[in-house]
Amino acid sequence: MTECIFCKMVEGEIPAAKVYEDEHVLAFMDIMPTTKGHVLLIPKVHRENIYEFSEDEAAQLFSAAPKIARALKAEFEPAGMNLLNNTGAAASQSVYHFHLHFIPRYDRQTDGFGLHWETK
Ligand code: C5P
Repeated sequence: MTECIFCKMVEGEIPAAKVYEDEHVLAFMDIMPTTKGHVLLIPKVHRENIYEFSEDEAAQLFSAAPKIARALKAEFEPAGMNLLNNTGAAASQSVYHFHLHFIPRYDRQTDGFGLHWETK
């Protein structure tokens, strides 16, 4: 039995707030969102990081990315968006099943939830 939390989401063993799914990938709302609309896109097959992807697996994952980005843009109307992946502990990876973060950005002072902070 897998101990990978994202594999468990794929298998339906634990709940996920799904926003997109096809044969190869799953996207769901991040449980601790950095900003409003923070989504993670994962391959259904367990791949720890980008080094382990075949070309087909990379194509399957990245072909879903524009759909998710466009849906987030339409729903939340962010001012911008970060797409990022952390690979390895030194890069702050904390879940060892590859995931691409979609982090909508609203403006320099807000996270979209109404929280504000000072910027210089
Ligand atoms: O890039 P990194 O590995 O640090 O990101 C892991 C992400 O997975 C975090 O943003 C965290 O909130 C998210 N997560 C989640 N659901 C879980 C466990 C982690 O959305 N059950």
